[in-house]
Amino acid sequence: MADAIIIGAGYAGMSAAALLAHAGRKVIVLEAADAIGGRALSCRDEAGYLWEYGAHSHRLSYKGIANDLFRRLGENIDFLPEDHDAKLIFKGRLWERPEGPAGFLKTPMLSLGARLLLIALLIRIKKADPGQWYDQTLHDFYKTSFQNREVEAFLPFLGMTVMCPSPDKVSAGEVIEFLQRALKAGVSVGEPRGGSAQIFSRLAKHIGQNGEIHLHEKAERIMTEEAGVTGVQTGEATYTAKNVIFAARLPLLPDLMVDRQLPKTLLDYAKNLEHSSALTIDFITDRPVTDIRSGILGVDIPLWARFQSNADDSFTPHGKYLSTWGIMLPWHFDGDLKIVEEAEKRLISTISTLFPELISRVVRKRKVVVPVMNGNVLTPVQSKPHRPDIECTTVKGLYLIGDTVRGDGCSGDISFSSAMKAADKILGLSRDGAGKGKAAGL
Ligand SMILES: Cc1cc2nc3c(=O)[nH]c(=O)nc-3n(C[C@H](O)[C@H](O)[C@H](O)COP(=O)(O)OP(=O)(O)OC[C@H]3O[C@@H](n4cnc5c(N)ncnc54)[C@H](O)[C@@H]3O)c2cc1C
Repeated sequence: MADAIIIGAGYAGMSAAALLAHAGRKVIVLEAADAIGGRALSCRDEAGYLWEYGAHSHRLSYKGIANDLFRRLGENIDFLPEDHDAKLIFKGRLWERPEGPAGFLKTPMLSLGARLLLIALLIRIKKADPGQWYDQTLHDFYKTSFQNREVEAFLPFLGMTVMCPSPDKVSAGEVIEFLQRALKAGVSVGEPRGGSAQIFSRLAKHIGQNGEIHLHEKAERIMTEEAGVTGVQTGEATYTAKNVIFAARLPLLPDLMVDRQLPKTLLDYAKNLEHSSALTIDFITDRPVTDIRSGILGVDIPLWARFQSNADDSFTPHGKYLSTWGIMLPWHFDGDLKIVEEAEKRLISTISTLFPELISRVVRKRKVVVPVMNGNVLTPVQSKPHRPDIECTTVKGLYLIGDTVRGDGCSGDISFSSAMKAADKILGLSRDGAGKGKAAGL
């Protein structure tokens, strides 16, 4: 019998399993696909290219949530040295991305009046209580005190920090919470050396010390008895455990529960979950087309990009250079290929304006339509207070983790933080303000 069975080997499942294995618990990870990684999959092909499912980076670098997890494992993520040449795309041009409020005060991107208003907005954000704003949009927050077209045109940048660029869609509380942490941390994003492969190989090593990862083995049923879990059934075997951690997207959960024991609120939430989608394209060139090492974010076009091999030459064979570009697809994208074509045209046209040499230098290209960009879009109804709790209230021993439940932060950070919370609950740990664990009740 295992101490915990974990369904899904993405950031969330691998993190929870590693924490439990590190604490001496026996774990079994079941993964339906034939590789670990989920939506942060990373693999090297025979020609020596490291292909990532969307070039993952970690917010707030070594002060961020992903690194908190590694600290609990007694390590730190090996981040590439921080470069200070991040860029923004605004009004069709590339600008230096301002660093901190002082940078915003000086940026030539905006008029002096707009810069002063933006600083006033940042001060309001710094002082606001996120708890009062989760249920309203960033635009609602902005309009309570401000009115300026230029600043309004810049608001998508604030939304983009939590991957939801529309000011009239993103929860103000989520943006406020993230920006408060970012202003305090004073660091931006961290790129793990060797990409997310580093994250997964290190987590797998911890799991290997006290557990197993079963690839290509899909969980088909979560077994229960008297409203408590007893294990998991797959096509190949039955595994017993008192704890089951479901670490895949919530909409997949009801299919694994035979008699619909889940709370109605959770089922409704899962059914109505709103996703975002993106098109990502990797371009390989035979020459570097720029020396930019940090990321590029679009303000008036919802895109992001990185020239990975400028900062980390392990991504490509010698003499080849990789850049990854992603553009968000319209909300409610339903698989219509015409929409993908339009997004690709818009992306290529932007690239051609900003880096005229890039497209003509491409020797290889890979295109992926990512149906689910984040597990959920951080709208008011999908903001932290409204996401389902990590401990299932109706089935004892069932924990729900991943980026669709009530973790902290946004995107992958929700997966890491929900994994830490679930592991703490199983280990009976409570956390003090400094994040140090102590046995509950002591
Ligand atoms: C293109 C792109 C770029 C991104 N960039 C960033 C970034 O830079 N920074 C960031 O923080 N986040 C980023 N994200 C978001 C991040 O990838 C996700 O938030 C994160 O990977 C989600 O991890 P997860 O473990 O919660 O879920 P998943 O990665 O979806 O993992 C769930 C796993 O469960 C498995 N599974 C499902 N059903 C079963 C079953 N029945 N039995 C067994 N296994 C099952 C799936 O195969 C999958 O491997 C990006 C996402 C995309 C798509």
